[in-house]
This record gives sequence, structure tokens and C-alpha cells, in this order.
Amino acid sequence: MFVMFEKEEFKVPVRVWLEGPGVLEESCLEQARHLAKLPFLHKWVCLMPDTHAGMGMPIGGVIAAEDVVIPNAVGVDIGCGMAYTETNIPVKEIRQVMTGNGNLVQAMIGDIMRNVPVGFAHHKMMMPSYTMDCAFEEMDRYEQDAELLGQLEAGYYQIGTLGGGNHFIELQESDDGFLTVMVHSGSRHFGKSVCDYFHFKARELNKRWYSQVPDEYRLAFLPTDSSEGKRYLDWMNLSMDFAKENREKMMLAVKAILEKWIGKYTDFELTFSGDINCHHNYAALENHYDKNVWVHRKGAVRARNGELAVIPGAMGSYSYVVMGKGNPESFFSSSHGAGRRYSRKGAMSAFSCEQVIQDLNTQGVVLGKKNKSDVAEESRFAYKDIETVMKDQTDLVVPVKRLKTIGVVKG
Ligand code: 5GP
Ligand code: MN
Ligand code: MN
Repeated sequence: MFVMFEKEEFKVPVRVWLEGPGVLEESCLEQARHLAKLPFLHKWVCLMPDTHAGMGMPIGGVIAAEDVVIPNAVGVDIGCGMAYTETNIPVKEIRQVMTGNGNLVQAMIGDIMRNVPVGFAHHKMMMPSYTMDCAFEEMDRYEQDAELLGQLEAGYYQIGTLGGGNHFIELQESDDGFLTVMVHSGSRHFGKSVCDYFHFKARELNKRWYSQVPDEYRLAFLPTDSSEGKRYLDWMNLSMDFAKENREKMMLAVKAILEKWIGKYTDFELTFSGDINCHHNYAALENHYDKNVWVHRKGAVRARNGELAVIPGAMGSYSYVVMGKGNPESFFSSSHGAGRRYSRKGAMSAFSCEQVIQDLNTQGVVLGKKNKSDVAEESRFAYKDIETVMKDQTDLVVPVKRLKTIGVVKG
């Protein structure tokens, strides 16, 4: 349920799906005020219950813009999102099974680490990518932005790689005891280049037009009927397709690993079902309150009536599959996670590496991470409590499945 927050200098109000704007950190509140002063927003600014400050616009923010796109309101990792699948394997059956590499969960996490490049790593040779193949066939869309063309080729080396920090591959146990898989990743370096390039272009143009949006807001915009705006949308859509294919490729790799180990060490006939692959950083043209608007979801998922989405919590805590309620007040959106409680630095100084590893051990979580020194940045203590976040958005989504981490690969 939201709280409305409005000031005289605002052009539109801000709706916060939290106990109240008073609980927002000042940096996030400041960014919300900037958004509320933009001259081209439809209805209001939405902040989901996982909101926290981002670059220009808060993460967990949703806006509906009339005839403009804002690269920083889509975010740096264009098309970042979640892939999910569930299996017919009871977790308690595989935890007991021993292999030459520990129990089955440990063996599978180790195999994922060996097969999926993580952190800054990418492939040593070009991998197949139908997204990039399509881009090369539609060169006339892209050739004007010569500086980005090199990124298309680089994409063949980046497809099917996880990235670092917040990105993860997780094995989980559903409340009803079955093994499930989540993959969190985006458009890797490719999408970041697109965002940086068009944000810079937008800044230059906004200066030239004496834009009313101050440069320090970091919310430079592009009209969707301008050449730059159209090109941004082409590159953004390409980045979204690339991100989706990236998650798909990793999910296929994980499924093959599960098949190999479960096939070898158990009598189960492994099946997968309920696959989801959804973005949480993107913009799309949608109709809301009788107007076609560019809905920017930056750390938010679409939750139309009956639509399924994935909301991760944190490693060693719970994550959710949810069904949208189609609430128009959030432009059919919900949170994309639990959201940060501590900055990366803050988490590192508040919690020690040993403390986090001890916590994961106590819970029986298998941690697949090469460099453990920065593990606190991504611990469950660094994120808000997912159960509270879910309570704050009962008008937006209903939980379908609750899942607990049993093993996790982090960059
Ligand atoms: P973001 O896309 O903003 O980086 O992160 C999305 C959300 O993923 C975070 O808000 C957090 O709640 C969740 N998250 C981050 N790391 C992990 C993890 O290792 N496992 C799970 N299940 N969730 C995570
Ligand atoms: Mn990302
Ligand atoms: Mn993400």
C-alpha cells in the first residue's frame, strides 16, 4: 500500500510503497524529488518497497514518460533480470547423495563455477548468439553509432557469462521441497556501453536545447521522435534481447549440469517446468490511464494481472515467484528484489567476511565464490528483509512460490 508525498514545487506526486517517505534515506528522497520535477511525466512517480538511491533515478523506481526516454531511468545494466526454472527433484534426496566432489549440491555448484565465466571473465572464443546475428543483419539500424559497433562483436564473447557483484546463479528449495534454479544477470559490458554512450549524447543535446532538467540530476532525456531517441530505443531493445539470451544460455548450461549429476547419481527422471525469464531494467511503450507512455522500470518488474515474475531476496534468505495483480497505480509493476539496506562499502565495514561465511554454513548454503574477501557486500545482512518488502506490496503481487537458497555462485 502506498504513501503519497507531494510538494508545491513538484509537477507530479511521488507514491512510495513503504511505511512512508520518512523511512527513505536522504539520497533516495533527493532523487525522488528530482523525478517529481520532470516536466514530462504522466500521473506520478512510483517507488517500490525495495527502493534505494541509484544513478540519477532510484533503483525500485517506476516512471511513465510522455514521448521521451531517459537512459539513466532504464539503468546501466539494460535488460538485467531473472531467469527461473523448477524441477521434480526433492532436495532432501540429493543433499544426502555423495559424489567424488562432496554431496550433489556441492558437486553441481562446483561444476557451474567451472563452466560459466563469472566476474570480469568472458569466453576465450566467439560463442553463438542469435541476438548479435540479427543485429548484423539489420546493420542500417546501428551503423550510424559507429562508436558502439565494436560492442556487437564483443557480445559474442560475453554471451552466457554472469558478471560480478550482485549477479548470481542459485540452486534453491521451494517450500514444498523441490529443487529450483535462478539466474540473475543482464547485458554485461554491452548494455553498459549503450547506456553510457546515449546518456552522454542526451546530456549534450539537453544542454543545446537549454533543457529545464538540470545536468546534476543525471536524468538527461531523448525525445522518442528524435533520431537519437529512436536509435537509443533500437540499441536498448537489442541490449534487452542480448540480456535475455544471456540468461537463457546460462540456464541451459545449468540444466545440462543438473542432468549430468542427477542422471549419474540418482534414479530420478529429471524434468524442468515453469520457466520464467523477465527483465527488471528497461523501458517499454504501454498504455496507462488512456495514454501511451514510456514506462521506465529501473529495478522493478512488470506485474500485469496474472503475469508471473521473479523477486529474489538475498543469498541465504528467501526469494519469490509472484503473480501480478495488475494494479494500475504502480503502472502494473512491483519490486525486483529486497533492495539494499547497506551500500557495498557500508556492508563491508559492518559485517566481517567470517561472520557471513559462518552464517551461510549454519544454514547449509553452499557458497561458490572464488574471491571471498568481498562476500559481505552481497550477504543477506546487506539487503532489506524480503518478508517486509513482500508485505509492503500485497496490493501489487501475490506470492506463488517461496524459495530458499541451498547453493549459490557469485562473481
Ligand atoms: P539488482 O538487480 O538491483 O542488483 O539486485 C536485485 C535483487 O537481487 C537485490 O535487490 C537483492 O534483493 C537480490 N539479490 C542479490 N544477491 C542475491 C543472491 O545472491 N541471491 C538471491 N536470492 N537474491 C539476491
Ligand atoms: Mn545487473
Ligand atoms: Mn539486476
